[in-house]
Amino acid sequence: MTAARRTTAPDPQLRPEDPLTRLPGIGPKTAAILAEAGFVTVLDLLLHLPRRYEDRTRLVALDGSLPPGELVLVRGRVAQARVQRVTRRRMTITRALVDDGRGLLPVVWFNQPWIARRLGDEREFYLYGQLRERRGGGVELLNPELEEAGAEPGRVVPVYPRIGGFGGRRLRRLIEHCLPAVAGCRDPLPAAVRRRFGLIGLESALQELHAPAGGSGNGARADPMADLNLRRSPAHRRLAFDELLAFSCAVAGRRSRRAAGRAPIVGVAAIERVQTGQVLPFALTGAQRRVLGEIAADLARETPMGRLLQGDVGSGKTAVAALALLMAAEAGFQAAVMVPTELLAEQHLRTLQRYLAPAGIAPAGLTSSSAPSERRAVAAGLADGSMRVVVGTHALFQEALSYRELGLVVIDEQHRFGVLQRSALAAKGRAPHLLVMTATPIPRSLALTVYGDLDLSVIDELPPGRRPVRTVLRPQAARGRVLDFVKQEIAEGGRAFVVYPVIDAGEESAAAALLEHEAAVRERLVGVAVGVVHGRMPREQREEVTSAFREGSVQVLLTTTIVEVGVDVPEATVMVIESAQRFGLSQLHQLRGRVGRGQRPAWCILLADLGAGDAAGQRLEIMCRSQDGFEIAEADLEIRGPGELAGTRQWGSAGFRFAELGRDHELIEATRGVASDLAAAGTLDRLLAKLIRYHRVDRVEDGA
Ligand code: ADP
Ligand code: MG
Repeated sequence: MTAARRTTAPDPQLRPEDPLTRLPGIGPKTAAILAEAGFVTVLDLLLHLPRRYEDRTRLVALDGSLPPGELVLVRGRVAQARVQRVTRRRMTITRALVDDGRGLLPVVWFNQPWIARRLGDEREFYLYGQLRERRGGGVELLNPELEEAGAEPGRVVPVYPRIGGFGGRRLRRLIEHCLPAVAGCRDPLPAAVRRRFGLIGLESALQELHAPAGGSGNGARADPMADLNLRRSPAHRRLAFDELLAFSCAVAGRRSRRAAGRAPIVGVAAIERVQTGQVLPFALTGAQRRVLGEIAADLARETPMGRLLQGDVGSGKTAVAALALLMAAEAGFQAAVMVPTELLAEQHLRTLQRYLAPAGIAPAGLTSSSAPSERRAVAAGLADGSMRVVVGTHALFQEALSYRELGLVVIDEQHRFGVLQRSALAAKGRAPHLLVMTATPIPRSLALTVYGDLDLSVIDELPPGRRPVRTVLRPQAARGRVLDFVKQEIAEGGRAFVVYPVIDAGEESAAAALLEHEAAVRERLVGVAVGVVHGRMPREQREEVTSAFREGSVQVLLTTTIVEVGVDVPEATVMVIESAQRFGLSQLHQLRGRVGRGQRPAWCILLADLGAGDAAGQRLEIMCRSQDGFEIAEADLEIRGPGELAGTRQWGSAGFRFAELGRDHELIEATRGVASDLAAAGTLDRLLAKLIRYHRVDRVEDGA
């Protein structure tokens, strides 16, 4: 901030593990703020991934032609800032003019009134943003990022995501001061691996990440700026490789630890009784039979099963799991089913009770809201072995529960990845067999990465008689007509869901949006029994309404997303989704899977207001076009495209910083290969120890 600090030269003695207080201008208070955001050492900052790069040698000149739609970088003075408040729409508009000495360009910022304070007549700024057509002709710069221009010459500069309150030039200077420490970053990769995959050294990678040689200087590559911005420069590729290798090594380690365990052997007699007996009220599909065979072969061995059961919503995973549970129980062992939510636990318990009753097995339920007496009874039954099958939430392993002989653990993750919980429950038994169920939308590349320690079984066939759910996209304003359609469906014996999204503040806000609409919906649906369910309601009340819906005394269920994980009502024929653009595609697919399970044709109506050319619109179009969870998932990843981390976060693979799972198939395969070579050579742990200095792998490092 002060002139003195600006001129401070970088410290050549700086080490990667040094605390950030070694940097100029970072006192204990600032360090605490950075630590809060997870940045403690110099290395933490060196691994901070730039959001994008600006080639500051390429400014647009304001006397030339400026086509709307273009992203441009302008350098100039910004004058005449004026803040206007539009109270009616609770908005502020800041208008200004940027002057680069050759021409003028109007600039407009919405809802950033503080911008005006940063502008001054004499200072020069960089402005980066999109041009758009102006009412009344010409173009203007819309909501540009703003950074004060210093005396530095034009070059390629990284632009970082803010850390706490730090951003812009201040953060860039801070990271520049970290660069001498790059020399202290020892390359963990053996030279042979680097050569084999054409990777640059770690030092060069970090240097290039933060201070790219830039513009046109690098003759070998066609467009280095584009490579940087798409995060596929040699530097990005190298860091993504390391990150994926760390992950692959951790997964491989986990796999070999599992293989070293000893699980209870489920006898062939028990397996055959289940396979030939008529337990379920329907015949298994071919795919279900094949998958059950794969599971049975694992259960009959002493090596603990680690298997991922993948299948689209409604493909009949639960039915297969029920038979696997029965196999374990018939052999005299206990089996536990763990699910992510109470609602799903209740649903699974009911289903499994129905499936297993003919075999004389009565599964028990256990969640954090079970009554103490109930809990004691379950605990006693599990300890003495009289209770064979238990269904519950994480309460299953949080409690001080002991099992007499736990043989099989089934985890239904829907589309979340609960790796940590997975291991905690597995640790309860000597080494029980493990079956993880997941509803499809996981692209193969991702399944291999996140679930790389598991063998894969896929149910790729739906039970007979299933029909596609006709899916349409309508503007929010059509809600009234949509409700009229719902009313008509109800008159013909159908039932309907209306689902509201969770916005920003979580379940609370979704519940609020829902209650706000409730009156209007009831009004439009006079004569129809409307029920409301949301996460803020007490469990009994929730259960009461859902069971009324199941029985038909409630015909339309207004709900927040909690319905996603577990209401199985064959009579439901319509799924209306409010503000559909706020949902991830996999979530929409899950929701849609709630209808179309019965005899009548089913509908899914997506309500959304979209701008022209909106990516959200493209995504919703896929929903209208496809019923295939795999296809939807792949298309989703493609549209979100590289660079959009939210895309991967939705898959629960949060934590990858450099790797992009939708794109890095080749690197994923490569690192899996390297990890298995290392495991064979017995040097896996050594390399992993080096890699985790740079890349966190705590999602798999829990030793299951
Ligand atoms: P998933 O767990 O994969 O979402 P479920 O096991 O819940 O699927 O099955 C969805 C519906 O299909 C349930 O109502 C179930 O009873 C039914 N079902 C499952 N397998 C079959 C089958 N082979 N034949 C007919 N109906 C089936
Ligand atoms: Mg299911």
